[in-house]
Amino acid sequence: MPTPFAHIWAAVAISPFFSDKRNLVKLLLLGALCTIVPDADVIAFDFGIPYGHLFGHRGFTHSISFSVLFSLLIIGLFYRDSFANRKIWLPLFIYFFLCTLSHALFDAMTNGGKGVALFAPFYNERIFLPWRPIKVAPLSIDGLMSDWGRKVLISEFKVVWIPCILFWLTVLGLKRVR
Ligand SMILES: [Zn+2]
Repeated sequence: MPTPFAHIWAAVAISPFFSDKRNLVKLLLLGALCTIVPDADVIAFDFGIPYGHLFGHRGFTHSISFSVLFSLLIIGLFYRDSFANRKIWLPLFIYFFLCTLSHALFDAMTNGGKGVALFAPFYNERIFLPWRPIKVAPLSIDGLMSDWGRKVLISEFKVVWIPCILFWLTVLGLKRVR
């Protein structure tokens, strides 16, 4: 995986498309949660579930199906009233769906580990995207402090942080002009 810092940038980068100014902080916090929740599956290792299993690391929680379900769950828990109005819940659904899915897509651009089960549970093969510029990050804090961790953060800065920040600023700028 990339580090959680890199994943969270996706929630910020696409937020101007969906921002509800009354509740921007809530939207961003929940969006950030969506970008990191797929890696809760590392707990599978503690239960002896192998990496390659449907519910192993980078399995079902890294799929399009999970992104749909988790987005609906977030809306059900935090924006339940919005279900009455499609103009409100649909943009929220798309935002949280994209935030969650961005995690799997970033993982699929890393240079290590197994790919992600993007189409699970219908097709459980692990896949990578053809372009994999992100160095795979250590899973521990100690690892992040190491030379490897430093190289990962530099690579993420170039491949994830800068493009996300530029994208975010561009969209914000365009919205101002309109
Ligand atoms: Zn992951």
